[in-house]
Amino acid sequence: MGFAELGLGDDVLRAVADAGYSDPTPIQEKAVPYVLMGRDVLGCAQTGTGKTAGFTLPMIDILAQGRAKARMPRSLILEPTRELAAQVAESFDKYGKHHRLNKVLLIGGESMNEQIKTMERGVDVLIATPGRLLDLFERGGLILRDVKILVIDEADRMLDMGFIPDVERIVSLLPPLRQTLFFSATMPPEIRRLADAFLSNPKEISVAPPSSAAETVIQKLVVVPHGGGAARGTASGHKEKRAALRGILRHENVRNAFIFCNRKRDVGITCRSLERHGFNAGQLHGDMTQTARTETLDKFRRGDIPLLVCSDVAARGIDISDVSHVFNFDVPTHAEDYVHRIGRTGRAGKEGHAFTLAVPEEGKYVDAIQKLLDRQIERISVEGLTDGELEAAPSSKGRGGRGRRPKAEKPTVPPAGRSRERKPREEADKPVTGLGDHVPAFLLRPVKLSG
Ligand code: AMP
Repeated sequence: MGFAELGLGDDVLRAVADAGYSDPTPIQEKAVPYVLMGRDVLGCAQTGTGKTAGFTLPMIDILAQGRAKARMPRSLILEPTRELAAQVAESFDKYGKHHRLNKVLLIGGESMNEQIKTMERGVDVLIATPGRLLDLFERGGLILRDVKILVIDEADRMLDMGFIPDVERIVSLLPPLRQTLFFSATMPPEIRRLADAFLSNPKEISVAPPSSAAETVIQKLVVVPHGGGAARGTASGHKEKRAALRGILRHENVRNAFIFCNRKRDVGITCRSLERHGFNAGQLHGDMTQTARTETLDKFRRGDIPLLVCSDVAARGIDISDVSHVFNFDVPTHAEDYVHRIGRTGRAGKEGHAFTLAVPEEGKYVDAIQKLLDRQIERISVEGLTDGELEAAPSSKGRGGRGRRPKAEKPTVPPAGRSRERKPREEADKPVTGLGDHVPAFLLRPVKLSG
């Protein structure tokens, strides 16, 4: 099926042709006609599938009719990170170049006054992160009762990041008669419940299940032994991981790479260590200013910085198509994140390489990933380094199963004598899990059973 058969208007089709796309991707083929019909859509799709154009193209067509009023957006797109929001804004520019739609990007780290000023000219599309949107709403700078189309993108990531209460609040401020498009890479029960609450008779669309890592990515696993790192305030084994990383970087033909760490603090440590050893590296994490993040990303895109050490949040959905390698400096604690991370390479049929560095106690996470992928990741050794052995997950059979108590989750122990002043940083560096002490209303609602 070609773009012309999806029901899009001529101006949108011209922009699509200008972008150089010959055929719609599966999510576009499935979503566009339903969005144009005004139906709610529940889409299970990852970034990289073309989902942004899947909702942007028909929205531009719909919004082409009608006029925007000052401070009253006609459509709202919620994104979990500033980078994703900025990318969606770019898509609107690209696909809406033959229209005169006014879009506003409302994200933290940029001047709110500028954002308010742009809104005075009328807003066809408001692209926002939930926190910033509520900030502005509470200051009275925004009226939400004219929103006719709502897009909730990357809902599972919103859940991981603890944004669901904010999203619920925002949805409660919108008119109930609206079209809602809801996208998530995974559909755990919490996300299902949320979709049930927000959508009305949605068309369900699913492409590329999240457990399927691209076949073009060659995956390798390196297990390093425990090191003496904990005593110096770094997680155990990180020194060995840094040595392994350097070993691989020196032997592999790495054009450019994302290097993922689980904690913000380790992003900085790893980046500085690489630089000290003569590598050209940059870092990207959520605590950096928006200007610094944009600058670093641009440098990485241009190839000025070939190695980008980053956290999951910062790198989520970044669309850089030609990345040769992904390194998991830490094994992701959520197996789905592994699929997202390695999906940064091996795009569009190109060959990609993913190396995961693990210490013994990360065995349970490696186990979960291999279960999700339904295959073993090939283990390799790094020249000059001793191999470590993965600890078995508490429930799995074999080594370590009999007579051993399951190991308790090991907190990062601050070094003796410095615990008091370091505690807040340690807290801040913990990956976000769960919803804190707020139980959002959707979790308390009874689940609708089918049939
Ligand atoms: P997304 O999943 O929205 O992040 O899109 C991933 C990438 O696919 C972006 O670089 C888009 O420019 C590109 N893309 C989107 N639709 C198409 C298409 N129909 N043909 C080729 N590339 C596309």
